[in-house]
Amino acid sequence: MATIAALGTGVMGAPMARNLARAGHDVRAWNRSADKAQPLRDDGVDVRRDPAAAAAGADVVLTMLADAGAVLDVARQAALAEGQIWWQASTIGIEGTEQCEALAQERRATLVDAPVLGTRMPAEEGKLLVLASGPDEALDACAPLFDAVGQRTMRLGPAGTATRLKLAVNTWVLAVTQGTAETIAVTQALGLDPALVFEAVEGGALDLPYFRMKGKLMIDEDFPASFALALAAKDARLVAEAADRHGADLPMLRAIAERFAEATEAGHGDEDMAATYRLSRPR
Ligand code: NAP
Repeated sequence: MATIAALGTGVMGAPMARNLARAGHDVRAWNRSADKAQPLRDDGVDVRRDPAAAAAGADVVLTMLADAGAVLDVARQAALAEGQIWWQASTIGIEGTEQCEALAQERRATLVDAPVLGTRMPAEEGKLLVLASGPDEALDACAPLFDAVGQRTMRLGPAGTATRLKLAVNTWVLAVTQGTAETIAVTQALGLDPALVFEAVEGGALDLPYFRMKGKLMIDEDFPASFALALAAKDARLVAEAADRHGADLPMLRAIAERFAEATEAGHGDEDMAATYRLSRPR
């Protein structure tokens, strides 16, 4: 059993820390807003006062934070030590991951770039998909931890590979979410009940569970955050930047990045990303 420092106990970090503790690992946790970490005490998690206190002596330091800026800042505060494994699970893009690799090298720690697929409920149920990349030995050491939070792990090669795949998959997630919003909005604008669209695609190749899930939030106009819109805006930006850097032209993704930024500025950043619908629905 390993000693793990879980830094960041938000929507994803808290259930991951809880599932690691339930699997028998020794888990210390820290969160910037301490109140979000306190409930983890009920699951035997040792809540510490700062990142360094959580990370001291841990085998693995797990970061599950909003963005690259937060990850780098907290990782510096954690004072990673020689020989420690740094499991970086947040979605921070290619450049962010390169900066983490540089910091890990400086500290003689080993970076495991292992973001996850899945949202609040799969995180709570320990059913995430872990996209794992990094040195083989470190991935072997992390395997039981991946099993504690996920139902499946894909081993992908050197650090940076998993982040690349995460960006590719999130392109699909963002496209489906925005596509759902516009489909529901235009259906209503044309004076039709969106239920007719679901009926029309039922059982066919376009009948996506995700379309139904996000579509229901839009029809009900109720957006409890599984994946906050502000974070989705960050991901759209990361995909657009990566595409620019690597020579792909993604007009739809650029438009989604702009749209999600607009929705965040309009005050919907803490709602689920399905709230992008608010900007499209007929007035
Ligand atoms: P969240 O609930 O908003 O949690 C974000 C965490 O980051 C909180 O612990 C927050 O602390 C912390 N944080 C933000 N800025 C910080 C700063 N400057 N310094 C220190 N801590 C800071 O987000 P989440 O949904 O758990 O997502 C975490 C990461 O996983 C993101 O990169 C996200 O894109 C990615 N992800 C999310 C999902 C999903 O469906 N939700 C799925 C896969 C990956 P406070 O509590 O103090 O605000």
